[in-house]
Amino acid sequence: NRRIVLASRPEGAPTETDFRLEQQPIPTPGDGEVLLRSVYLSLDPYMRGRMSDVPSYAPPIEIGDVMVGGTVSRVVASNHPDYTVGDWVLAYSGWQDYALSDGNGLMPLGKAPENPSYALGVLGMPGFTAYMGLLDIGKPKAGETLVVAAATGPVGATVGQIGKLKGCRVVGVAGGAEKCRYAVEVQGFDACIDHHADDFAGQLAKACPQGIDIYYENVGGKVFEAVLPLLNTRARIPVCGLIAYYNASSIPDSPLGAQLMRAILTKRLTVKGFIIFDDYGHRYSEFAKDMTDWVRSGQISYREQIVDGLENAPDAFMGLLEGKNFGKLVIRVGPD
Ligand code: NDP
Repeated sequence: NRRIVLASRPEGAPTETDFRLEQQPIPTPGDGEVLLRSVYLSLDPYMRGRMSDVPSYAPPIEIGDVMVGGTVSRVVASNHPDYTVGDWVLAYSGWQDYALSDGNGLMPLGKAPENPSYALGVLGMPGFTAYMGLLDIGKPKAGETLVVAAATGPVGATVGQIGKLKGCRVVGVAGGAEKCRYAVEVQGFDACIDHHADDFAGQLAKACPQGIDIYYENVGGKVFEAVLPLLNTRARIPVCGLIAYYNASSIPDSPLGAQLMRAILTKRLTVKGFIIFDDYGHRYSEFAKDMTDWVRSGQISYREQIVDGLENAPDAFMGLLEGKNFGKLVIRVGPD
């Protein structure tokens, strides 16, 4: 059983030495347990937070413990009445080949799911995050302008496409010309602006001639700075993530805090943070129904970047924090 553990807590951006690949015997399932073999491992920005021990909404990974993560796995041995060998499940095995489970937190995916890895993306946690944050907090109305960054990632791509289904003008923000072209041509966004461009703020203003009614916050940093002056009265800001700061040892102090408070008051903004399963777990079935329909009918497209080999997870993860991924980042840990 290969597993990748947290070797040290990163200062700033994680490096190779913060991870360690270990070999362990494959565990044996006890009474009521199943043995799972990982086929796909999800890599997600929140994992950077778990590598640190600053207080947050979830406890940190301890040094020497397996890196956490969602997996799509197969049952290879079962002492559990609800699972038989060969079943596909959505699990939380972390960065390793094999894991035991007592069934708690497993979601059955059946004997032959159509696209098993989608359960880590558009049909799973990131898709659910996009759906609830946009619909429950963003409350999109036809004709409004929606801005979302990390526009070709699993959250941003889904936010923008749901926004189009609701009749919004959707402006994406992404890193580089290729991602921006993809957001417009494949995802159907009305425009997409490259945040690396020198005149990024000016280009964003031009793409939002009627101002911004919903800013779905994924990144913070200079994207937020460019958005703030463009917000309309009664704009909504679902605060989903702030990836621009995840590698920073502290969030930079800036006079923008005071400007934001003033904008909240004078423009009567709604600014609301959320942690998807804590706040919306009870609404999963609504999402699952709508999103399955939208993906099946082709109304929502989905792009994955699948990297082969558990040993490549650290490198792929470090790249995710720098925008090197293009689409939902998934590791193929083993064969189907
Ligand atoms: P992505 O696959 O989109 O990966 C992150 C992307 O962020 C990168 O590819 C890069 O895209 C962009 N990025 C990185 N650094 C910066 C920067 N400094 N400025 C602008 N963009 C940057 O990730 P997800 O779709 O999985 O997640 C998107 C956001 O949603 C994250 O902030 C994540 O933490 C958050 N999230 C929150 C949840 C919640 O419960 N609140 C649940 C799930 C996700 P590009 O090259 O296009 O800039």
